Amino acid sequence: MMNPTNGARTVDDHRRELLGPVAALPPVTLPLASCRGLTLSADLVARVPVPPFTNSSMDGYAVRAADVAPADVDHPVELPVIGDCPAGAAAGVFLEPGSAIRIMTGAPLPAGADAVVPVEMTDQRLGPGETPRSVRIHQAVLKDAYVRFQGEAVSIGTSVLALGTVMTPAALAAAGAVGHGELSVVPRPRVAILSTGNELSVPGDVLRPGAIPDSNLVMLAALVEEWGGDVTLAERVSDNPPEFRAAIARAVDAADLVVTSGGISAGAFEVVRQSLDSPRVQFVSVAMQPGKPQGFGTLTRGSGEDVPLIALPGNPVSSFVSFHVFVRPVLARLAGRDPLAETTTIEVRVVDGWRSPAGRRQYVPVRLDGPREPYDARPTHPLGSASHLVGSLHLAHALAVVPAHVTHVEAGESLSAHLLGPLAPR
Ligand code: AMP
Ligand code: MG
Repeated sequence: MMNPTNGARTVDDHRRELLGPVAALPPVTLPLASCRGLTLSADLVARVPVPPFTNSSMDGYAVRAADVAPADVDHPVELPVIGDCPAGAAAGVFLEPGSAIRIMTGAPLPAGADAVVPVEMTDQRLGPGETPRSVRIHQAVLKDAYVRFQGEAVSIGTSVLALGTVMTPAALAAAGAVGHGELSVVPRPRVAILSTGNELSVPGDVLRPGAIPDSNLVMLAALVEEWGGDVTLAERVSDNPPEFRAAIARAVDAADLVVTSGGISAGAFEVVRQSLDSPRVQFVSVAMQPGKPQGFGTLTRGSGEDVPLIALPGNPVSSFVSFHVFVRPVLARLAGRDPLAETTTIEVRVVDGWRSPAGRRQYVPVRLDGPREPYDARPTHPLGSASHLVGSLHLAHALAVVPAHVTHVEAGESLSAHLLGPLAPR
């Protein structure tokens, strides 16, 4: 049988090889406020209970339930108010039998009290005001009413967040609530980006003949930040091998992952390929479109540690697709997350068909429309996946995936698509 990928390796094999030597970075301790999006490297146990003390769940009056048991609208119970208990107060005042203490939500329940009467069940007005001398209560409450007990949500020593949890805003709140000001987490991977090409110029500069704006450097840096990395070096480099090698030396010292753009295909002047080809760095053909040429391997710092390298093709759409397909999983693994769990795959329906190369899995940036799955998918450019169509890439919600054996995508057909971000399509 004919090899369906014409000798090129499959996307899945290439991704497996890329991930092979990559492990989570060693944990560090960071202040809670710096941990958003990072992965916990140890189980987190409650140091303080939630709530930390027994308190009122309403603005109202702390009472003994027995004192207000006879109260109803026609026979209100009037109690003298012997003090105030605002949030943040230490529970100082003792509630004498037959009296009430005005209390605010979250304030500690005074000793002697066993219930709270919400202000709405009294003759007092909501909102700020002097402490009343007395309060008329026109509804009975049961013992423990409107009281939140110490530790009723989380008791000390309970495991609250498991190793491997990604610190979402809610997870940060949970860690803070149980008394942690610092966490042991996998740090944000540091990423160095080198964009290669003699033709590249700074975006916005007047173009000399033969020059094009370097759109990949800013795009890749933003993608790295979007997917949880820290860009520690971002340089535009010429196609001159000694200059490129000097930049690589700076990159490995600055980063946990080096990503390059351009210089890896079949041309005569392919600086990345020529400078890095070695037993530890390979340049291969992957059965995909765009993104057929790919490079990967391991570089070594002056100090001896290994740093993974991913060399992406320079065409902007190839670079973009390759980032999503190959760099994202590596970043996730370095950051202690599951490399493949972060791709959300949905079903889409093709509006107008297009062609796809035989033997290569095609990734087509598509715009999605419709109220629900399967969304209508339209390529963001009439030419589908051609690599230089960077100007319309921002319209894409997803990458539609055309299986390698398909050569014609027909209108009305279903395809899977990988969402590019958390935004739900409209
Ligand atoms: P290369 O992969 O270096 O052979 O480049 C392939 C195509 O992508 C060429 O047309 C390049 O000019 C273009 N290209 C390479 N790098 C960039 C970049 N950083 N920004 C925009 N276009 C690029
Ligand atoms: Mg080039």
